[in-house]
Amino acid sequence: MPRLHIAVEGIVQGVGFRPAVFRMAEARGLTGWVRNRPEGVELEIQGPAAATEDFLRALRDEVPPPARVDRIASRRITEQTEDTAFEIRESGAGATVRPVVPPDLATCPECAREMATPGERRHRYPFTNCTYCGPRYTIIEGLPYDRRLTTMKGFPLCPDCAREYGDPRDRRFHAQPVACPVCGPRLHLAAPDGAPWAEGEAALQGAAEVLREGRILALKGLGGYQLLADAASDAALAKLRQRKRRGEKPLAVMFPDLPSLQAACEAGEAEAALLQSPEAPILLLRRRPGAAVSASVAPGNPRLGAFLPYTPLHRLLLEAVGGAVVCTSGNLSDEPMAFRDDEARVRLGCLADTFLVHDRPILRPVDDSVLRLDGDGPTFLRRARGYAPLAAPLGDGGPSVLALGGHQKNTVALLAGGQVVLSQHLGDLTSVDGAELLARTVEDLLAFFRVRPERLACDLHPDYASTRLAERLAAEWGLPLIRVQHHHAHGAACAAEHGLPGPVLALAWDGTGYGADGTIWGGEALVVTGAAFRRVGHLRPFPLPGGDAAVRDPKRSALGLATAVLGPGAVPGSLLAAFEAAELGVLQAMLARDLNCPQTSSLGRLFDAVAALAGIRERRGFEGQAAMELEFAAEQAAPGHAYGWAFSGQEVRVADPVPLVAELLRDRAAGAAPETVARRFHAALADLALAWARHAGLRDVVLAGGCFQNALLTALVTARLSEAGFRVHRHRRFPPNDGSIALGQAAVAAATA
Ligand SMILES: [Zn+2]
Ligand SMILES: [Zn+2]
Ligand SMILES: [Zn+2]
Repeated sequence: MPRLHIAVEGIVQGVGFRPAVFRMAEARGLTGWVRNRPEGVELEIQGPAAATEDFLRALRDEVPPPARVDRIASRRITEQTEDTAFEIRESGAGATVRPVVPPDLATCPECAREMATPGERRHRYPFTNCTYCGPRYTIIEGLPYDRRLTTMKGFPLCPDCAREYGDPRDRRFHAQPVACPVCGPRLHLAAPDGAPWAEGEAALQGAAEVLREGRILALKGLGGYQLLADAASDAALAKLRQRKRRGEKPLAVMFPDLPSLQAACEAGEAEAALLQSPEAPILLLRRRPGAAVSASVAPGNPRLGAFLPYTPLHRLLLEAVGGAVVCTSGNLSDEPMAFRDDEARVRLGCLADTFLVHDRPILRPVDDSVLRLDGDGPTFLRRARGYAPLAAPLGDGGPSVLALGGHQKNTVALLAGGQVVLSQHLGDLTSVDGAELLARTVEDLLAFFRVRPERLACDLHPDYASTRLAERLAAEWGLPLIRVQHHHAHGAACAAEHGLPGPVLALAWDGTGYGADGTIWGGEALVVTGAAFRRVGHLRPFPLPGGDAAVRDPKRSALGLATAVLGPGAVPGSLLAAFEAAELGVLQAMLARDLNCPQTSSLGRLFDAVAALAGIRERRGFEGQAAMELEFAAEQAAPGHAYGWAFSGQEVRVADPVPLVAELLRDRAAGAAPETVARRFHAALADLALAWARHAGLRDVVLAGGCFQNALLTALVTARLSEAGFRVHRHRRFPPNDGSIALGQAAVAAATA
C-alpha cells in the first residue's frame, strides 16, 4: 500500500479545501489525514496504487470552485498501520498559520440548483450559501474565521443546519454563514423612512414590481447598498442619474442570466467563464447593436459593464424582474458606498423609492470588481469583491510596511514576509466618510493579519487624507514614514508585480500626481531601481488654467496647451466656439498673469486637450471621459500616420508636442475626421514610448498609470516596444490606475535602506 505525503499551495484555506480532500479520500477508500499549515495544506494518504493515483488527479482537477491550486508536491513515505480512516486534523500546536481572510464568493452551482428545486429546504431562500460560496470578508469581525466572530452570530443554527455544519461529508461542513429559512436572515421591503411594507417572497415580488414600474430600488446587497433601476427604461435611468448626481459616467448592468447577457454584449468562452466564476466581476464588454438596454446606461460608449447575479438575492430578484437592471453602488457621486442600515436610510432616503433589505449586518463595504479581458489577459479597473483581501507574493521578506495609497481609487497595502495584501478599492478620499473608511480599513488589515508594520509609506502630496493619516500614525507609533513620489509608486508597483528588481523603465502615464519638483506630473519616463528612481523623460509642461477645475473640463487643458505651444493668446479657431466669451477672457487673463495655472506634464491632460482640439469633447464631463472618447474614436480609424514630437535635452528627454499640435490643427483645417486625428495621436504615443525606451536603453519596460486603462494605447505601445526587442510588462493582478499606488509605495518603502 503506497503512502504519500502531499503539500498543496495556492488558495486552499477558508475555501472548503480540507473537507473536499476528506471527501475525495473517503470516496476512494484511502486513509490518512489533512491539515492546514502556513504555506497551504498538507496531507497524507494511503491505499491501493490506482486509488492514490486517482486521488492525485482529483486533487488537481476537482478542487472546490473558490480554491486555486498553484503547486502540488508529493513524495512516497513509509506505510503506516495505525490509521483506519481519513481525518481532518487541527493545525498543529505552535504552527503559525497565516491568518487567511477569504473574499466573498458568488453563489456556487450546487446552491443555485438547490434554490431552484421545489421541495429542497432552501428552495427560493435568498441567503443560501455553503463552504464554496457566500459572504466572508464582508461579515468577519475577527479571526479565527468562526461563526461566533461573524455577523451570523445573531442567528443560532437550527438542528438541520447544525447537522450540516458538523458533518464532514456535507458541503456545509464548517460553512460559517450557513443559514436556512428556519434560522437565517430574512428579507424585508420598506419605505425610505424604514416603515415595513412586506416580508419574504412578498417583499421580493414587491421589489420586482418597483423596478418594472421604473422606480429606483435600494438593495442591501453583499458588500453594501446598491441602487437598482430598469436598464431598458430611459426615464428610470434619467431619474437615477439626476438623484445620484452622476452625469454621463457609465452604469453597470446586471443581467438575469448568461444568454440574456450574451444577447446584449459580445461575451465569448473566456468572458463567460469569468462572469460565472466565484469572483463574478463586472466585465467590460462590447455592446451588440440593438441591445435591449437604454443608450443612457453608458452614453457614447461602445462598451458595457455587464455582470451576472452573484448572490441568491440578486438571482431571485432579477428572475422576478425578468430583465436587466442597472446595478450601481448606493452613494452620491464621489462618496463611499453606504453599508450600515441607519446610514443607508439617511444617505439613500432621497435617492431610492423603496428599500429591499435584510437583517444580516454588513461589517465593511466591498464594491463590485471591474475587469476587462483583452486578447492577452485581464486588466483590473477596480479590484474589490472576490479578490480582496487575498494575499499575493511580493518582494522577498524585507521589513513590514503599511502603505496608505493615493487620493483617488484609494487602496491600502500591507506588506510582510514576502506577501502583500491590497485592500478592496476604497475610492475617493475627498469626503469625510472616505477618510473614515480609510482609517477603519487600516485597523481591519492590521487586526486580521496581525502584522506590526515597521515602516509606513504615503504619497509625496502634502494634502492628501492618506498622507495626513500616515503622518498621524507614524507619530503615534514612532515609525519611519517614507514618502513615495506618485509615478515612482506606479512604476514600482508594476515592477514588483512581475518580480523585477530593476532597473526597469517605467512609462508612468496618468492624470495627476505630485511631482518631485512640486509641479503636476503624469507623462513620465522613469528608471526605477527599488527605492530609487531617475526621471529620464517627460512631456513638456503646459499650464492648466484653474488647476483642478481643468480635470473635468477638457477645453481648459486645450487652452493651456495652445498657450504653451502656439504662444500667449493663441486660440485655435475650432476651440473658440467651445467657450463662452466671458469665460475665455477670464481664463486668458489667468494664463497671462500666471494665476492659478499650475504647470503639468500630465498625459491625461494632454489626452483631454487633444480630445477638445479634435472636436471630440470640449465640454465638461466626468474625469477621464474625454480620454475614453478619444480612445473609442481612434478604434474606428485605420492605422496610419503618427503625429510627430520634438525632443530636447540629453539626460532627460523632454517631449515637446509642438509638431503634434501643428499637424493636428492642419488635419482639422483640412477636414480630417475626428477618428483619424484620434488614431494619429495614439500612434504618436506609441512612437513616444519607443523613443523613451531607446533613450533609457533598458530591456524591461513596465506600463503603469491610469492612461493604460486605455486598451488601444496599451496594445499599440506593447506592440511597438515588443517589435523593437523590449520586454513589456503590464499589470495583470492589480489595476494600472491609482488602485495600485499603495502597492508601489509598499515596494519602495521595503526596498529603502
Ligand atoms: Zn454554495
Ligand atoms: Zn437552519
Ligand atoms: Zn496615478
